[in-house]
Amino acid sequence: ERSGIDCDVLVIGAGPGGYSAAFRAADLGQRVILVERNATLGGVCLNVGCIPSKALLHVAAVTEEAQRLAAHGVSFGAPAIDLEKLRTFKAGTVRRLTDGLTQMARQRKVTVIRGTARFTGPKTAAVALHDGVTRDLAFTRAIVAAGSSPVALPMLPEDPRIVNSTGALELPCVPGRLLVIGGGIIGLEMATVYSALGARVDVVERLPNLLEGVDRDLVAIWTKRNAHRFERLLTGTEVTSAMADPKGIAVTLSGEAQATTYDLVLQAAGRRPNGAALGLEAAGVSVENGFVSVDAQMRTNVPHIFAIGDLVGQPMLAHKAVHQGHVAAEVAAGHRAGFDAAVIPSVAYTDPEIAWVGLTETAAKAAGRVVEVARFPWAASGRAIANGADYGLTKLLFEAGTKRVVGGAIVGPSAGDLIGEVALAIEMGADATDIGRTIHPHPTLGETVGLAAEAALGLCTDLP
Ligand code: FAD
Repeated sequence: ERSGIDCDVLVIGAGPGGYSAAFRAADLGQRVILVERNATLGGVCLNVGCIPSKALLHVAAVTEEAQRLAAHGVSFGAPAIDLEKLRTFKAGTVRRLTDGLTQMARQRKVTVIRGTARFTGPKTAAVALHDGVTRDLAFTRAIVAAGSSPVALPMLPEDPRIVNSTGALELPCVPGRLLVIGGGIIGLEMATVYSALGARVDVVERLPNLLEGVDRDLVAIWTKRNAHRFERLLTGTEVTSAMADPKGIAVTLSGEAQATTYDLVLQAAGRRPNGAALGLEAAGVSVENGFVSVDAQMRTNVPHIFAIGDLVGQPMLAHKAVHQGHVAAEVAAGHRAGFDAAVIPSVAYTDPEIAWVGLTETAAKAAGRVVEVARFPWAASGRAIANGADYGLTKLLFEAGTKRVVGGAIVGPSAGDLIGEVALAIEMGADATDIGRTIHPHPTLGETVGLAAEAALGLCTDLP
């Protein structure tokens, strides 16, 4: 005895995971309802994550690049920042993409309901619409893609001058002094944006290293390149207290007696999954600390309910969510599929970018795994020198003996675009010969991947 609207597949959350799942399920002939509590589709990634941050990082990178040209005889003078126009550019970028998703949902006849969904039973859910009305839904299968939210640090007071990544992306102001709490990808990306806009920026990271998980040799290059950009890059340091006063937020750091006053504080100290507020217990789905566990078919402990994306754990990345969304939709539609990615690449879209995929040297050492490491310094790349990027580095890791590539990391402009080749090589089981003998176009930064493989083969590299 079902009540309300009926569907084959109910998708909760319209981020990269949810919209990918909804569209794939509809393409496979399923009647799909997609519920999203936000006004626009696209989730964190399109609205307050990947896309707006990249629009601003593009501006930051071009600004920096233009200033560097002064050394080569072309000067533009100091940048004049019109924050309002910059906000409009960012909002326009987001809008194009979120509008595109609405269009794609319509084309596929996916029913989009705007409201907050909760499970009320194993095959039923209720959606609280924005006008206060509740709508009951019945489904045969459900895909939960409710994503994650920023963690709020307990020692920070409530104050409009303390923001998370969403608040920082709104560009409330160009603060005189900004403290970024968290030296991970999101913290360093936002720190880069604000420094390009003219703020004096400090970054504080609790762990001993910035970008935990990335090999130190790459981070060292990044840190050197960014020394001029940040006032202080503090690692192994914690915020011990913070007080709001009329002049700013007075923050005390571990090991420091005196507080420093900041005009804006950005907390970028991690994200937590949104699993707790979905009524999943009513459907019998287990949730632990907000996380939902799944198998390779993206099924939860309740076989007709799937979960994907940030909700199911690290890495919290959009491209992982998209692929998991496709798998869940295919399985929900009765097809055979599984999520068996060999590797998932990570990128910090800072200036320069750092990208890594698969095994790192640090992880190999920790696991006692013997690997062969090949480095190609960009100082030997003609294109890198011409581009003023001779500081970059491409590193590949090979399994000892077979020389099959098991990992790679790149620091330098466009590292994020270049790492895709390494991900493909790992997925294909390619070895150093496969990569080294592949003719890469000259002169390109991508050539450094081929040349790193040649270095692993002991071949002389003769291309400047
Ligand atoms: P989300 O995108 O979080 O979407 C979940 C959706 O579910 C939300 O729209 C939410 O409103 C909705 N929802 C939740 N609960 C309910 C409910 N009960 N009812 C209805 N709707 C609900 N990743 C990258 O790969 N590359 C990047 O460059 C990148 N940059 C980032 C920059 C920032 C500043 C941030 C914060 C994140 C960034 N990420 C990036 C991470 C990326 O945004 C996430 O990994 C991705 O959005 C996860 O997708 P998802 O579908 O799991 O969930």
